[in-house]
Amino acid sequence: MIKSFHYRAVFLVLFALLAAITLPASPAQDVSSEQTPESTVLNVYSSRHYDVDDTVYQMFEEKTGIKVNVVKGKSGELLERITREKGNPNADVFLTVGAETLAPLKQNSLLENFDSEFIQKVIPAQFRGDGWTGIMSRARIIAYSLDRVDPKSIKTYADLTKPEWKGKVLVRSSTSSYNVALLCSLIQMEGKEAAQEWASGIVSNMARPPKGNDRDQAKAVVAGEGDVAIMNSYYYVKMAKSSDPAEVEVSKKIGLLFPQDTHLNLSYGAVLAGAKNKSNAVAFLEFLTSEEVQTIYAEKNGEFPLNKDVKLPEIQASWGSFKPQKLDFNTFGEAKPEAAMIFDKAGWK
Ligand code: FE
Repeated sequence: MIKSFHYRAVFLVLFALLAAITLPASPAQDVSSEQTPESTVLNVYSSRHYDVDDTVYQMFEEKTGIKVNVVKGKSGELLERITREKGNPNADVFLTVGAETLAPLKQNSLLENFDSEFIQKVIPAQFRGDGWTGIMSRARIIAYSLDRVDPKSIKTYADLTKPEWKGKVLVRSSTSSYNVALLCSLIQMEGKEAAQEWASGIVSNMARPPKGNDRDQAKAVVAGEGDVAIMNSYYYVKMAKSSDPAEVEVSKKIGLLFPQDTHLNLSYGAVLAGAKNKSNAVAFLEFLTSEEVQTIYAEKNGEFPLNKDVKLPEIQASWGSFKPQKLDFNTFGEAKPEAAMIFDKAGWK
């Protein structure tokens, strides 16, 4: 009797051991899920609209094995999404082309601080802040007719409001984020009144009601519709390197002026508060600010590198040095509502 109990006890112990080895520890675990582990994924919201970006994402994937998922959209739409997803974002990184969007991100605590010795070393302090770093920059400059304009006659943006330019200034609509950013920067640098005076002065000198994009303004200079145009510097590079001979022709017939305190805006990358793949996000921003990638962006997209070690491509170097505004990028976007009122009051369509 005692012996048989002993055998039964040994059998039960053996059975329990076998069960512990073969059964899953937690039966609730979903073993059928095929999601990529978080450590090899990066989710990006991007409002950049350039082909070269896809090449860069692919390079990052090949180099790190981290899969980049990108949702592209307009800056305003993505901002709304980020605000809705506050604290639990579906993206880790926000990439965009105007630093005026930093103000609402900061005001709503939507960014997450990160440390990167590399970024601190290569990107000047003015072009980065808590939770974000500038990647590339673009200048809002004045293109002029080589035939009809003496570039020495324009030193500042305000010079375009002088009576001698009546009916000669070409610029796109006030809904363009590039113009909004320019006006916000003037409000920060020179105050509301000067900004209002400038906007009204431009409207009275317009060659035509605003229409088209930046490149269309340069084309209109060459077509003789006006003599000077406000546009972003990188569009010049894109036209000069265009596969469309008409655009190359336009680039040959215009000169570029960099006014005193040129408005330099940033394409930047930010880490979103609550990002699930934060270390991948930082690795990605380090990659975008690396010499290798900055050189590609400068060549292919005509932007200016922010990494101090990157050599300027031939076209950008040919423009010589210029003095940009000393803008506080964290805050200049706070003037957006004011800028909208000023445009409205000036009658800038
Ligand atoms: Fe653009």
